Amino acid sequence: MREQDALETQLIHADRGDRGDASIAAPIFQTSTFAFDAPAAMAEGAQTPNYETFYTRHGNPNHADVERLMATIEGGEGAIVTASGMGAITTTALTLLKSGDHVVAQRSTYAGTHDLLTDLLPRFGVTATFVDQTDTGAFAEAMRSETRLVMLESPSNPLLGITDIEAVARIAHERGALVSIDSTIATPVNQNPLRFGADIVLHSATKYLGGHSDLIAGVVVTSRALIDRIWKTHLVAGSVIGPFDAWLLLRGLRTLDMRVERQNRSAQGIAEFLAAHGCVSRVFYPGLASHPGHKIAARQMRGFGGLLSFEIDGSFDDARRAIANLRLIRTAVSLGGIESLVVQPAAMWPDIAESREAADSLGVTPSLVRLAVGTERVDDLIADLDTALAQI
Ligand SMILES: *Cc1c(COP(=O)(O)O)cnc(C)c1O
Repeated sequence: MREQDALETQLIHADRGDRGDASIAAPIFQTSTFAFDAPAAMAEGAQTPNYETFYTRHGNPNHADVERLMATIEGGEGAIVTASGMGAITTTALTLLKSGDHVVAQRSTYAGTHDLLTDLLPRFGVTATFVDQTDTGAFAEAMRSETRLVMLESPSNPLLGITDIEAVARIAHERGALVSIDSTIATPVNQNPLRFGADIVLHSATKYLGGHSDLIAGVVVTSRALIDRIWKTHLVAGSVIGPFDAWLLLRGLRTLDMRVERQNRSAQGIAEFLAAHGCVSRVFYPGLASHPGHKIAARQMRGFGGLLSFEIDGSFDDARRAIANLRLIRTAVSLGGIESLVVQPAAMWPDIAESREAADSLGVTPSLVRLAVGTERVDDLIADLDTALAQI
């Protein structure tokens, strides 16, 4: 694949392997295993990372298509597609960490990542320090001689916090630690963290990459050397995506730029509408000049993404009532699909609905609403929000 091809061209062609068939759409290799003529070739297949035609836990042509495409659009040397975003994150962490190691992570991080660092990894002697992602100095202070990995997430969920990737990567590398970043919310359309010094990019492909709320998947993109190491863990951890879901993911990726570009534009329009609305006290969107991470986001992102949060000027129940009055926008977890979805984060954590302290510690207030903007006409979404907000 020519490096100079534009993203939208790469999305259509960068997966093309050397399969030698004439089909335009990728065939689906719905098989667990592949036949060999010679034992020597079989032994080579068994040991080669991402080998496409040995046994599907090791690799599969449908995995390889996604892996080639993702490596190209993130600017990495290799990729591994996994059965979920958590599969990608956990397989990577288990590869890079051993007993006695230390991780620096963000306080604002995906719940599954938080549980990995506070529950699973401590059982194997790995400890973590959590810092404010917007305070680059806090990363430097948290580094220890045993720190092996700095785990970032930018933008983060649900308040769209922005981490200065380049500055934190410099700090981590000076101390000999690797940097991973969960770039799910940004997508490769808006952000390529490897260019800013991150070593490993992680995605929940369930979200924008798949884009149609019809599959669960994850991706790791990094150097060839790290992929070879992560692949060995992957064989044991077994977070293997089925060939059909990998095929669906490739199909979703074809339109990634079109979807995300519209979602960027619509989210900006909706954020501006909400910021001017009398019933809304605060809007969290990195595309607004009022967002504390706006300047850094403008430097390291090409677009500000399709996710935003806003605080209704009222109680938990006011926010719940407003959401209940939405006509098009439905209530569901997840994000990044073609349909707009909302959640009230406090409704998922009952203690936040009750306690001011719990809310402040996470920055999540009772009337906070998270909106994942889909690809519907933005005017229709704004009308839906306007009608619902009029009910409170
Ligand atoms: C959804 C999500 C994950 C987890 O991905 P799954 O595909 O659900 O396992 C990780 N990080 C972020 C930022 C997410 O939004």
